[in-house]
Amino acid sequence: MTTVEDAKNVLSKILDSGSKKNLIELAWIKNVRVILPRVIITLSLPSFANSQRDRIVQEVRNKLLKFEDINDVQIEIDHNVSQSNEKGENNFQELKNIKGIKHIIAVSSGKGGVGKSTIAVNIACSLAKLGLKTGLLDADIYGPNTPSLLGVTEENPKVTDGSGNDQRLIPIKKFGISLVSMGFLIEEGQPVIWRGPMLNSIIKQFLYQVEWNYLDFLVIDLPPGTGDAQISLSQSVPISGAIVVTTPQQVSLQDARRGLAMFKQLGVPLLGVVENMSVFIPPDMPDKKYEIFGKGGGKILAKENDLPLLAQIPIEISLVNESNKGIPISVSQPDKESSIRFTELAQIIRKMFIN
Ligand code: ADP
Repeated sequence: MTTVEDAKNVLSKILDSGSKKNLIELAWIKNVRVILPRVIITLSLPSFANSQRDRIVQEVRNKLLKFEDINDVQIEIDHNVSQSNEKGENNFQELKNIKGIKHIIAVSSGKGGVGKSTIAVNIACSLAKLGLKTGLLDADIYGPNTPSLLGVTEENPKVTDGSGNDQRLIPIKKFGISLVSMGFLIEEGQPVIWRGPMLNSIIKQFLYQVEWNYLDFLVIDLPPGTGDAQISLSQSVPISGAIVVTTPQQVSLQDARRGLAMFKQLGVPLLGVVENMSVFIPPDMPDKKYEIFGKGGGKILAKENDLPLLAQIPIEISLVNESNKGIPISVSQPDKESSIRFTELAQIIRKMFIN
């Protein structure tokens, strides 16, 4: 199986025609990702080397397609680099640290509809309730629904004074958290057709051109699945740890497994698994619990990957009702079983990073 090292090895045979140094050494080829049968790289040429671009792209493809298990080579062009180099700055370095943000937690799932956004919103609100400064970045381009989960669909984020790149987006404050959502950028009903590279620059803007101020935690609601969007996002954001959300059905495990494998291949640290919709608790009989979606999915996934099962969140009708009203259950009904589980989850996350 071709590894990142194998790919880098062959790519290091490609030379700059001027200095004769290899492109890996020059960091003109970065972010080599092997998601078989695909390899994705970022080509980051300084403006003075643009004339070599066609030759380099050709050589990259030729070399990588020689591997038997690779049939697709995706080359992302880092458009920022030539501009930033001219200014004497380095955008890539910047990715490693976002000023003022201590820890970035990504919430992800193998497929849609498992409750990923619900979990992300309630984690963020529960961290805030613990007194931690918390932001929520809704990067789910396919269904950015955190504004409706937080009841802020009518609000438009303001921008700071200044012009051009000096201007910053001011997050919307609700329930003690700071929210910025892709939903703010998408017109309702408009199809989402951004491609990976475009998404990359949008997410960077989100991170660097938002007035986050100081945050203990930035929770990111990633899009579901393992496509280009997730890969670009994971690579654009310096993630401290990812949480994978799944449901108890064993049939949904396959998707979740792919999600976990993607993070592993991208080198993103995994914090653990959250099983959502574990049991149904009828509102009139809160002592009863029904395993309507089967059982064991979260446990199996966690065990297979040697990860903790961080939480099991029950299905509660009040959770849906409160979500529909735009109030996360952990805020409106802290005594409900799901709210208690969210608080415990937030405490686990705090302990992993703070004490
Ligand atoms: P995703 O982000 O994975 O697409 P959502 O968070 O949008 O999923 O949730 C999908 C639907 O399931 C929403 O209507 C949400 O209110 C509901 N839901 C999610 N988790 C629960 C739960 N634990 N109990 C009841 N309903 C839930």
